[in-house]
Amino acid sequence: MSASELVDPFGRHINYLRISVTDRCDFRCTYCMDEDVSFLPKNHILSLEEIALTAKTFINMGVKRIRITGGEPLVRKNLLWLLESIASADGLDELTITTNGSQLKKMGQSLYDAGVTRLNVSLDTLQTERFTQLTRRNKLQQVLEGIETIAGLPFPKTNKINSVVLKHYNDDEIIPLTQFALNYNMDISFIEEMPLGLITSHDRQITYLSSNEVLTKLKQHYELSDSNEKTAGPSQYYKVANTQNHIGLISPHSHNFCGDCNRIRLTAEGRLLLCLGNEHSLELKPYIRNTNQDSLTLQEAIIKALALKPEKHHFNLTEEPQILRFMSATGG
Ligand code: SAM
Ligand code: SF4
Repeated sequence: MSASELVDPFGRHINYLRISVTDRCDFRCTYCMDEDVSFLPKNHILSLEEIALTAKTFINMGVKRIRITGGEPLVRKNLLWLLESIASADGLDELTITTNGSQLKKMGQSLYDAGVTRLNVSLDTLQTERFTQLTRRNKLQQVLEGIETIAGLPFPKTNKINSVVLKHYNDDEIIPLTQFALNYNMDISFIEEMPLGLITSHDRQITYLSSNEVLTKLKQHYELSDSNEKTAGPSQYYKVANTQNHIGLISPHSHNFCGDCNRIRLTAEGRLLLCLGNEHSLELKPYIRNTNQDSLTLQEAIIKALALKPEKHHFNLTEEPQILRFMSATGG
């Protein structure tokens, strides 16, 4: 089977899979989940063996890049086994992880040894009190030590900081966060908050800050040039003069990036989501567990699912969120 089989009805080639390995997390970021969120029962979640089988099936069908995410992926027990298993599959170009950084001090070396290509660490503030308010956990120091650990390891590709920017909460830290990333030779992406799940901590219409406003601030401090850098993601990248690093802007509201969307997501319970901003999906679990009533194989089910990929998402800040699942349930 070849990459050309993973083409959706709009001619987009799908070569990037995000896999959520758990919906659980040791943080409670206000824009992502409530403090008293209820998690899935463990037997609803795919086993590591089932995830490995699914990942390898996708790789055989042409997927070149896999990102492991969650919830917090590094709290999943025996994750290293899964990473080694996926990293050793022929045909995969990149195995990356998105993490909140809390486990990096103790796991950084093992992640490198397992074959992880690079890490995205989510960090929205460098201020202790603000960090505790945003994540509802007092763990900034632990995250900073984790970043220090991975900065000392020779990952094949440049690690990255991801920051969600909220007006009145952390928009005064755009420059300090960028400088922090550059000091560690990391790239940084600023993300517009997406209306996923109902939240009570803040009003998304008030905290919305467009990527254009972020870019204006950045240009006052850095000489930026357009970059063709493509990391299989939806970022618009800029190269920072006199460095090897890039700044990315992820703008689901202000710049619809659906036209060249090459990605799909597997949730922790085995649902294949065709779009972050729509509910179009197919339950793959029965095919992964081989308990489906029809005679489709896992590969055939995946191809059938691709036909459901919608042309674009419609995020609208003035309406109630249409997507009631949180990012943690989706696999960000
Ligand atoms: N726990 C890991 C972490 O925080 O990096 C991985 C999962 S988390 C859901 C992945 C990314 O989604 C994080 O960078 C987080 O900041 C982002 N995120 C969560 N909820 C979001 C939202 N409503 N809008 C935009 N980004 C969001
Ligand atoms: Fe956890 Fe990541 Fe969601 Fe924060 S953004 S609550 S770290 S899953």
